[in-house]
Amino acid sequence: TTASTFWLGTSWKMTKTLAEAGDYADELRTAALAGQVPPELRLFVLPPVTALATVRDRLDGAQLDRARLLLGAQNAYPGPEGPVTGEVSMGMVRDAGARMVELGHAERRTLLGETDELIAAKVAAAVSAGLIPLVCVGETAAERDRGDTASVVAGQVRAALGGLGRLAPAELLIAYEPHWAIGAQGRAAAPDDVADGLAVVRQVLAEELPDSTTGVLYGGSVDAGNAADLASGLDVDGLFVGRAAWTAAGLLDLAHRC
Ligand code: PEP
Repeated sequence: TTASTFWLGTSWKMTKTLAEAGDYADELRTAALAGQVPPELRLFVLPPVTALATVRDRLDGAQLDRARLLLGAQNAYPGPEGPVTGEVSMGMVRDAGARMVELGHAERRTLLGETDELIAAKVAAAVSAGLIPLVCVGETAAERDRGDTASVVAGQVRAALGGLGRLAPAELLIAYEPHWAIGAQGRAAAPDDVADGLAVVRQVLAEELPDSTTGVLYGGSVDAGNAADLASGLDVDGLFVGRAAWTAAGLLDLAHRC
């Protein structure tokens, strides 16, 4: 990549006890204090909501300011605090240490039936709460096979921004994550496929949010074997990683490959 800052982040998804989360944070803190986090990287870590405050507290003093290491949530609900059983609000995750919130991940769209409409409401609520939205978009294998990748991805980006109205996000991240490239059944997309998806996202952003600071990331089976090629060979502002960064050593290894 030619960008002066490069995003590298991980979602822990539905993994980690508090003890495991604390150990990860301690390792990251030690590495940061030892100067082992490359200065051009902006790292982010999205623990499960149960561990957010623990990770925040354990990273305290790591001398990574908020711009260089952001904590985030993997989801939050777009409404004021109140009677919504089982959910947490944007303000609550912010209070627990989140500066960013992931929205629209493939697993939430498919396993939990999240719609474009709900995701749009979440994006607007995140911006109102002062959180950086990290919106995931991407086509399914069937949509790809039908040749619908560009229209599906463009539609998801447009829909996600559709609730903003006059709200201008200070910063917004979009991760292009083809559903078929994610998780244990996935295989990383080939650079040409990634490039096409990223270009669609950039095009819609240029049309819809020309004045905002946006970053376009790739995610889906990123690992130590492909990170360097993806980071250097594409017009991409960062990589979003699941499994390969579920240990601090994994994240730090990737940090040196980007
Ligand atoms: C993801 O689900 O966002 C992801 C990138 O997962 P993985 O790296 O494990 O494919």
